[in-house]
Amino acid sequence: MKTIAVLTSGGDAPGMNACIRAVVRTAGARGMKVYGVNRGYNGLMEDDIYEMNLRTVSDIIDRGGTILYSARSLKFKTEEGMNQAVEVCKKRGIEGIVVIGGDGSFRGARDLSLKGIPCIGIPGTIDNDICCTDYTIGLDTCLNTIVSMVDRVRDTSESHDRCTVVEVMGRKAGYLALESGLAVGASYIIIPEKPYSLEDVIKRMNYTLKLDKRHFVIVVAEGIGGVANLAKRIEEETGIESKSVVLGHVQRGGSPSAKDRIVAALMGNYAVNLLLEGKGNRVVAMKKDEIVDYDIYEALSMTKDINLNEYDIAMEISI
Ligand code: ADP
Repeated sequence: MKTIAVLTSGGDAPGMNACIRAVVRTAGARGMKVYGVNRGYNGLMEDDIYEMNLRTVSDIIDRGGTILYSARSLKFKTEEGMNQAVEVCKKRGIEGIVVIGGDGSFRGARDLSLKGIPCIGIPGTIDNDICCTDYTIGLDTCLNTIVSMVDRVRDTSESHDRCTVVEVMGRKAGYLALESGLAVGASYIIIPEKPYSLEDVIKRMNYTLKLDKRHFVIVVAEGIGGVANLAKRIEEETGIESKSVVLGHVQRGGSPSAKDRIVAALMGNYAVNLLLEGKGNRVVAMKKDEIVDYDIYEALSMTKDINLNEYDIAMEISI
């Protein structure tokens, strides 16, 4: 394989740039030509593509976002869009593609592989909602951002004897909420994977009020939502002044942490090696601190359970 391309697709995540760098530098070191595709599958269909070199990726290792931009593309899901993308690959001589993104992007990569363009997926998402891997690029940076934001909320919550209900990202997955809730010592964590009731939240708050607790931070996963209403109900039921905060897209930005840069480097390098071995339709993953790979079909059919033991520990020690 002499010519490959790299693109970022779906939701952006800190560390994507470090991964692009690893892909371009690995390919460059092996004498391959590398194209950068702008705005995910849109750029592939529209031939918004440029040749990258060792220096195109200088000084991006510390930058959040993605220099290749990202997009969601409905047209790519159609036969017409897919064929257009394949034509562009043929015209450019692109023999393999590294796709950095989430589950949706991997489905696109699987379809392109079926059309004869071998693709390798690299998990890049803050949500850690990709089942085949223990870790996704962007998670650590995002968790640290949430912790630093909630620490600020805690300061003001404490000053005013207040309850603050914080919504964090994670789409349908509660992983970010669970881990950040554990890290900030949240009084209560509400995630889609664990049924909860308002009565239980109130009961717990009333119990800890008796133990002289005066302020509260409640972390709620995006998949549950409704934080404004929850704060209102808590105030009505407990008499504690309650506010809500939706952290929103601040969670996606920022310079990647050391961990995200390291995983990005290892996965980017691994992906190019797979293509060099003539492999396609694979997803790079991390299992027990080792970089491994799976068939995309297999990867997309896997399930991953949240660690409810961690949830119980978080609840037990936040009294
Ligand atoms: P993520 O990769 O973060 O999960 P999306 O689900 O939005 O984000 O997917 C990113 C892009 O991948 C979509 O805009 C679309 O172009 C492509 N894609 C998603 N699902 C499919 C699918 N089933 N078949 C082909 N392409 C898909």
